[in-house]
Amino acid sequence: MKTIGVLTSGGDAPGMNAAIRAVVRTACENGMKVYGINRGYAGLIEEDIRELNIRSVSDIIHRGGTMLYSARCLEFKEEAGMKKAIETCHKFGIEGIVVIGGDGSFRGARDLSLRGVPCIAIPGTIDNDIVSTDYTIGYDTCLNTIMQMVDRVRDTVESHSRCIVVEVMGNRCGDLTLNAGIAVGATAIVIPEISCDIEKHVIERIKRTQKTDKKHFIVMVAEGIGGVEALARKIEQECGVESRAIVLGHVQRGGSPTVKDRVVASQMGYYAVQKLISGESNRVIVLKNDSITDYDIYEALCMKKSVDDQLYKVAHEISI
Ligand code: ADP
Repeated sequence: MKTIGVLTSGGDAPGMNAAIRAVVRTACENGMKVYGINRGYAGLIEEDIRELNIRSVSDIIHRGGTMLYSARCLEFKEEAGMKKAIETCHKFGIEGIVVIGGDGSFRGARDLSLRGVPCIAIPGTIDNDIVSTDYTIGYDTCLNTIMQMVDRVRDTVESHSRCIVVEVMGNRCGDLTLNAGIAVGATAIVIPEISCDIEKHVIERIKRTQKTDKKHFIVMVAEGIGGVEALARKIEQECGVESRAIVLGHVQRGGSPTVKDRVVASQMGYYAVQKLISGESNRVIVLKNDSITDYDIYEALCMKKSVDDQLYKVAHEISI
C-alpha cells in the first residue's frame, strides 16, 4: 500500500488530533503518502483533500477538536454519494482509509470496505457508546471536564444550600453520567440503562439525606432522559430546597486531551496503519482489558453493550 487517507467524522472529540498525528507519522515512516480528508465523508465526495507530512501534524497533540474538521454527510449514505467518494479515492490513488469517529462513521467505513476501499476504524467520541471497545478517544477528557464544571458549580451550590440538576451529554449511553456522578459525589444519578422512579430514586433520596443534615445536592441526569428544568422544579416543591438546572452541552466536547486520550489515540492510530500495511480491511481498533486489539467492523456493530451494574450499585450506596 503506497497511499492512504485519514478522516474524522461525526461528533468531534479531544484526542482525535493525537490519532491523526499517529496515523500520519506511522504512514510516513513506512514510506507511504498520506492525504488528510477534510470534513469526513463530505470531503471525500467533494475532493476536499490535502497531502500531509510528518510536520503537518506538529503542535496538534495537545489540541481538542480535529485539524481535519468533522461533518455529518447524508449524501454519503446514498449510492450516488458513495460512488463519488470511491471515484475520489481512485483519482488520488488512495488505497486505504483510516476513519476516526463513532458507530455511524463505522457503517460508512464498512460500506467503503465492501466496495473495495479498505478501511480501518478508530473509535473517537466523548460518549464511550461504542459497544465493541472498553474505551473511546475523548471519553477521559470529557469526564474530567464534567467533573471540573460541576466542582465549580458545587462551590456556589454549597454556599447557598441549593440543589443543582445537571444534564450530561452522552447520546443514549449513561457512562459519562454515571462515572462523573460518582466523581462529583452526586446524591442521585439518572441514566437511560437503568429504570428510575424519580419519586423513589431522587425525591425520597434527597429527603432522606436532608434528615442527616445535608443541605446541598447534586443530581446528574443523562441527556437522553431530558426534563432537567421540570425535575429541578419538582425537587424545589417537594423537598423545599432551592433548585437550578444546568445543561453542560458542547462545553463537554472541548479542551486539551488528557494523558489517557493522547496515549490511547496514539496507539490506535499506529495500529490502524499497521493493519492497512498488513493488507487488512473492515477492522475496528479497540481497547479491551487494557490491550489494543481489533474486530471485524460488522461484528463490532452487532455487539451489545451493558451498563456496569456494580458501579451503579456503588454510586447508589455511597451517595447518601
Ligand atoms: P458518529 O460517527 O459519531 O456515530 P453519525 O452517526 O452522525 O456520527 O455518522 C457520521 C457520518 O457517517 C454520517 O454523516 C454519514 O456520512 C456516515 N454514516 C452514518 N451512518 C451510515 C450508514 N448507515 N451507512 C453509511 N454511512 C453512514
